[in-house]
Amino acid sequence: MKVQSATFVKSALRPEDFPRDGRPEVAFVGRSNVGKSTLLNALLGRKGLAKTSGTPGKTRTINFFDVNNAFYFVDLPGYGYAKVPKAMKLEWQQWMTSYLKDRGPLCLAVSLVDARHAPSAQDQEMLDLLEDAEVPTLIVATKVDKLKRSERQPNLARIRKTIGLESDALVLPFSGVSKEGVRELWQIIAEQVG
Ligand code: GDP
Repeated sequence: MKVQSATFVKSALRPEDFPRDGRPEVAFVGRSNVGKSTLLNALLGRKGLAKTSGTPGKTRTINFFDVNNAFYFVDLPGYGYAKVPKAMKLEWQQWMTSYLKDRGPLCLAVSLVDARHAPSAQDQEMLDLLEDAEVPTLIVATKVDKLKRSERQPNLARIRKTIGLESDALVLPFSGVSKEGVRELWQIIAEQVG
């Protein structure tokens, strides 16, 4: 897909702030530092459009980006940076759910996990939220440039196994450094928003 325009639209702090024009939305989720901003900027071909929060784990805004005046990229708050109190975690889950649940325009969630590690309990909780909300979800393994060739298949297999996917399920390798996976990810997104 050719990105003709990509602009930041708004940061939502309440459901009333979510766009109402019904354009398709693709949401991006992952723990803080997983490479979500890097992936968004690589997809959009814009440096610095999506920014990592200054205070990791603290930002709870949901950020909307308009792409080609046709659909939205939705940057959901990163999770799992520090040990957070239970009440705060609950609040975060409720906030995520307020967006995910019955969100008609949401046609795809891209869930980022670090290719070097097994998905965390919080990655799993996020995937459970997506499953409960019945959102089609694609798993993307970030920072694959950091893996040795010999580590690649075992690590991808470990990701599938940890989250209970079939052994041939798609986990898309991605790197913001080599740009591996950009084209493939766009292909999948284009199918969903088209
Ligand atoms: P976010 O918190 O999920 O938005 O993560 P960022 O995109 O800000 O990335 C966190 C850190 O990981 C930064 O230091 C990035 O330079 C680095 N990073 C992100 N993506 C990649 C990648 O594909 N390869 C490598 N080697 N580093 C990456």
